[in-house]
Amino acid sequence: MKYFSTNRQVPATSFAHAVIEGLAADKGLFMPETIPALSPDFFTKLPSLSLPEIGFEIARNFVGDEITESDLRQICEEALNFEIPLNELDAQTHILELFHGPTLAFKDVGARFMSRIMSHLLKNETKKVIVLAATSGDTGSAVAQGFYQVPGVEVVVLYPSGKVSQVQEAQFCTLGKNITALEVTGTFDDCQRLVKTAFADTALREKLYLTSANSINIARLLPQSFYYFYAYQQFTKKYKGPFVFSIPSGNYGNLTAGLFSWKMGLPIHHFVAASNANDTVPVYLETAHYTAKPSVSTLSSAMDVGDPSNFARMREIFGDSWETMKQRITGFRFSDAETRKAIEEVYKTYNYLIDPHGAVGYLALKKYQKEAENVPGVVLATAHPVKFSESVTEVTGQQPPVPESLAVLLDKPKKSIPLPDDYQLFKEFLLSKNS
Ligand SMILES: *Cc1c(COP(=O)(O)O)cnc(C)c1O
Repeated sequence: MKYFSTNRQVPATSFAHAVIEGLAADKGLFMPETIPALSPDFFTKLPSLSLPEIGFEIARNFVGDEITESDLRQICEEALNFEIPLNELDAQTHILELFHGPTLAFKDVGARFMSRIMSHLLKNETKKVIVLAATSGDTGSAVAQGFYQVPGVEVVVLYPSGKVSQVQEAQFCTLGKNITALEVTGTFDDCQRLVKTAFADTALREKLYLTSANSINIARLLPQSFYYFYAYQQFTKKYKGPFVFSIPSGNYGNLTAGLFSWKMGLPIHHFVAASNANDTVPVYLETAHYTAKPSVSTLSSAMDVGDPSNFARMREIFGDSWETMKQRITGFRFSDAETRKAIEEVYKTYNYLIDPHGAVGYLALKKYQKEAENVPGVVLATAHPVKFSESVTEVTGQQPPVPESLAVLLDKPKKSIPLPDDYQLFKEFLLSKNS
């Protein structure tokens, strides 16, 4: 399988190259030249496959002969080592709980898969491989946990001192081993500048292999398609007939992965794009005009994106046709006040705690059922309610229970290295990793 850039200014390339580059040199996003339809045999087997088996059967089509079958199987088993249950609230309303991984958010799926793929592809690299991640919180935790104890790779997370939550800090500062957290005296922008300066430092890069775990990486997107099949498998054990997916969206990676699944032959009836006040895509679906805008802060903060990076991939999938895209996707936007009401409604009606992102997905499903067609739906719940404990507790009066995995981290001592906002010191630190 070859991968092309959505900007089309660079030649198509291998899977390995697309993963290692992350973003194409022309700043486009990598896309597979075709999204292969899965065989009838696969769909016959689907009801009895485990999540890692589904992952393997899908991934092999995109990886081709660049990774052996047994290695790919092992990568899937290690990456997809937590449950993704489909929780039925009522016959019309199902919640796919994507938040049982180490950082309690769906980004674990992509980060765990990508980290193992990268480590595998770089295993013959003779320079020390260092993944640099500047973070304002969530990316750092998913990347650190994703690469934790992955052989041959060192991860350096830079975060602004005093500006991330206690839970986030615990998720990347208590690991040790191949994960180092640098607590920078400065802002997130300062952290990002240190990382960018390191990438531009050719003398440094002769000694070290620096890479980033970018969220637009194709190896993060691909595994997100696996759980659409897994949700379908669970849904069809009990119900027949069409159903829709409602997807709380920010950069639209999750929804794009759903489109990949549909292209592979999964009978997904319709997609509902659920957004907060950052409604660039819903506006496009309504008006045919795409207008990027600055992001605004909301309760569902991981969806505060004004110019979603994966929109370029969505356009590709629909051959740049607004008409075809809007036949398959309906978009809605909701305010923070509506989100709070939905958290309350879900708690009162179903005795279920949903986080603000999932709540936006729930609202969009209900609106679609009311205004378009009353078919059952699966809401992708992207974060554990404990990650957004404040708003959930404020609205419901209920404190979400802290899962065992998080309780353990919160008890561990924080290990971070203080770093002034000074590139020379940062460089010396990186070079010391080389020994
Ligand atoms: C990243 C994130 C989203 C948005 O996902 P996209 O793939 O960027 O659309 C939604 N919810 C949570 C909790 C997230 O962390």
